[in-house]
Amino acid sequence: QGVAWLDGHFVPLSEARISVFDHGFTRSDATYDVAHVYRRRVFRLDRHIARFMRSLKSLRFEIPFDSDGLRALLLEAVRQTALDDAWIMMICTRGRPPFGSRDIRLCRNNLIVCVVPFIWLATPAQREAGLTATVSTLVRIPPHSVDPRVKNFHWLDFVRSIFEAQERGSDLAFLCGEDGRVTEGAGFNVFMVKGGEVLTPADGVLEGITRASVLDICADEGVPARVAVFDAAALRAADEIFVTTTSGGIVPVVRLDDRPIGDGRPGPVTRKLNEIYWRRHESAPWS
Ligand code: PLP
Repeated sequence: QGVAWLDGHFVPLSEARISVFDHGFTRSDATYDVAHVYRRRVFRLDRHIARFMRSLKSLRFEIPFDSDGLRALLLEAVRQTALDDAWIMMICTRGRPPFGSRDIRLCRNNLIVCVVPFIWLATPAQREAGLTATVSTLVRIPPHSVDPRVKNFHWLDFVRSIFEAQERGSDLAFLCGEDGRVTEGAGFNVFMVKGGEVLTPADGVLEGITRASVLDICADEGVPARVAVFDAAALRAADEIFVTTTSGGIVPVVRLDDRPIGDGRPGPVTRKLNEIYWRRHESAPWS
C-alpha cells in the first residue's frame, strides 16, 4: 500500500529512506505539501503544486522539475497505487553538506514524493456531530525566519497544543498570536460565522488551499465572507465555527472550552459550504 519516489526511482514505502544527517531531520530544513486523492480524483492539485513551488523558492530549494514535470510525477505515483483515498505528499529536504563541510550551498536537496493511505481529521460520525475545541494557552509565534505562508515543519507549538487539547478533553486546539488574535491550529485553518458573515484570520497563517476553496464557494454562492482579525472572545460568541484542511475539508466545531457554539450542532452555513465543497471535490479530474 502506497509508494514513494526518491533519487529518481519509485520504491515501496518501507524502502524510502534518507540520511539521519539530512538537515530536514536535524534542523527542520525542509518544506512540503499534501493533496488529497479522493475516490481517485485529485482536488486542486495545481494549487498544491503552486504553493510547493513558492515554498521551494522562498527557502532556496532546487528540484529537477518544473510544475508540469512535478505534476506528471505526482500523477504517476498515484497510478502506481490502487489507493482510492490517499495523500500525495511532496517533500523537499536540504540534504547534507559533504562530511567536514558546513557549507549548505553544497547540499544536494532531496525531493521525495509519497502516496500513502489517507487519514481523516475526523471520522464520519465526528463530522456529523461536530468536534470540540479549546483555545490554547500557548502563543503561536510564527517562526520569524519562516513566513507562515510557507508550509514548514516548525510544528513544536502545534505538537504542544495537541497534548494540551487532549489533556482538556478537546479534539482540537486553536492558537492565538502574541496580540491575542486567533491564528490557526495543528494542520488546519479556523473560520467563524457571525450574523451570516463568514470570517477567517487574515494573516499570520498558512494560506490553506481548503480555506481558499471556502472563500471561492462563498463568493460564488453570494455568502458574505472576508478575512479579518478577531480574538478568542469573538470566536466564543460566534454562531458557528469550523476548521478547514486538506485532511478532511470543512469540519464543524460545536463546543469551545466546554461551551456550546450556537445550539451545539453544526450550523446551516457550515453544512451548506460542506455540501458544495464535496460536490466540487467529486467533480475534480481523475488521476
Ligand atoms: N495551517 C497549517 C499550519 C497547516 O499545516 C495546514 C495543512 O496542513 C493548514 C493550515 C490547512 O491547509 P490546507 O487547506 O491547504 O490543507
